[in-house]
Amino acid sequence: MTAREPFTDTQDACHFIQGKVTPGTGMGRQPIFNPATGEVSRHVVLASVDDVGAAVASAQAAFPKWADTPPIRRARVMFKFLELLNQHRDELAHMITAEHGKVFTDAQGEVARGIDIVEFACGIPQLLKGDHTDQVSTGIDNWTLRQPLGVVAGITPFNFPVMVPMWMFPVAIAAGNCFVLKPSPTDPSPSLRIAELLKEAGLPDGVFNVVQGDKEAVDALLEHPDVRAISFVGSTPIANYIYETGARHGKRVQALGGAKNHMVVMPDADIEQAVDALIGAGYGSAGERCMAISVALLVGDVADRLLPRLVERTKALKVLDGENLAAEMGPIVTRAAHQRITGYIEQGVQEGAKLLVDGRSFDASAAGPDCGEGFWMGGTLFDHVSPDMRIYKEEIFGPVLACVRVHDLAQAVDLINAHEFGNGVACFTRDGNVAREFSRRIQVGMVGINVPIPVPMAWHGFGGWKKSLFGDMHAYGEEGVRFYTKQKSVMQRWPESIGKGAEFVMPTAK
Ligand code: NAD
Repeated sequence: MTAREPFTDTQDACHFIQGKVTPGTGMGRQPIFNPATGEVSRHVVLASVDDVGAAVASAQAAFPKWADTPPIRRARVMFKFLELLNQHRDELAHMITAEHGKVFTDAQGEVARGIDIVEFACGIPQLLKGDHTDQVSTGIDNWTLRQPLGVVAGITPFNFPVMVPMWMFPVAIAAGNCFVLKPSPTDPSPSLRIAELLKEAGLPDGVFNVVQGDKEAVDALLEHPDVRAISFVGSTPIANYIYETGARHGKRVQALGGAKNHMVVMPDADIEQAVDALIGAGYGSAGERCMAISVALLVGDVADRLLPRLVERTKALKVLDGENLAAEMGPIVTRAAHQRITGYIEQGVQEGAKLLVDGRSFDASAAGPDCGEGFWMGGTLFDHVSPDMRIYKEEIFGPVLACVRVHDLAQAVDLINAHEFGNGVACFTRDGNVAREFSRRIQVGMVGINVPIPVPMAWHGFGGWKKSLFGDMHAYGEEGVRFYTKQKSVMQRWPESIGKGAEFVMPTAK
């Protein structure tokens, strides 16, 4: 595939089980759309309970040998996978653009951030190193080691079909687990290419499997007794459901949910930088990022200075077919999402917010040839949004930016802390003390100071607070290693150091 050639596979997107592509029991299929044109590009098969059972059985059978493989040899497979990913990064990015719609350069960024995690997972021998204490008592040593869980599953959203699965499986597999991925049925194709590349890298069959589908497949994973842990990323109601159902079935669960990320602009901020940040973080990927900024909290007189510039820039957004390298924003992922977002804009108007730029008036045919029937809209900008409005409270997940005017930093912090979501947040200021106090007081998992989208790097771990994450551990980084392993403590002594006679009191150091 060349750099400009779009992804054109028309075969059904199938499962990948025991190292092979398979349609499974063929119980159902649903269309995959190209959001830029509105056309059906191919279909995805939907897994039945039996298909999920086959994938889990394949993973379970592969587990003993893979878990016993020395970590350095598992890491070598990851190194080879990394090399292949680097060779195929643009191919994956084209696949993302074809099914998600995000602009190609953004899709390239998504692949790059996924690759970061693979690089991290290549260091698994170091990450799995345990602790050892010599002579905890006379003649006795004690150490801890971390062992893999077994079969673990990942359930992922449409908005990052490459990066989010890569938050999960590289660390899980490198740590010695076998993995079943259930991608979003909206853009499932990259998952199959990833499976092929893992196989080419030398990963034994069964260690990585893909089952396509939706609720039926997810429920089968949640209820399967051989699935030890579930990683989920998606919307909050489903995250909550996954967490509760998984826990009820005795599984370890991390379930990352939705978001409503605020960006505070202080009166001393560089206004041009703040406008750049709001434009990129509000409308990049059509606002379909869990770390997108959807609320601007404009402090003091900032609104009057910033909004004229923001209006101008929102109107000038280059909303084009994602394959056009000049594009800044692509289409909305599905017709249903387009309708939901349009409904929120109407709701905002009815609630009394001031509509400064209306993305609904965007002419789809301006996006490029064949785009007339695609799921297009421009950027939408509201002013005078108040905290009681639905467009403030709920996640819209589209290119809609709500501006709220506040008096001071304290009011901004109170609003953010009272919000039910706590994924990401940003504060633009030149004042070091404001930055420090903001970072310490804010009830949000990921904070950016003059950084609008503070997605942590591979070795730091990703996770929100409040209703943006159900569970105790963040994704990837050292928390990811902990999530995919269980700690064992071994205490050992040798016959020469064992005293005579049974001991009936609690052993203490001697
Ligand atoms: P979604 O919740 O609709 O779907 C996520 C996954 O759950 C998919 O694999 C889907 O097939 C499955 N699913 C959907 N409905 C289900 C049901 N009733 N029962 C069982 N499984 C079900 O989310 P989406 O629309 O694909 O993605 C967008 C959402 O994901 C947004 O809310 C966004 O904020 C969130 N997200 C969060 C993060 C994060 O890190 N916190 C990252 C990316 C996306």
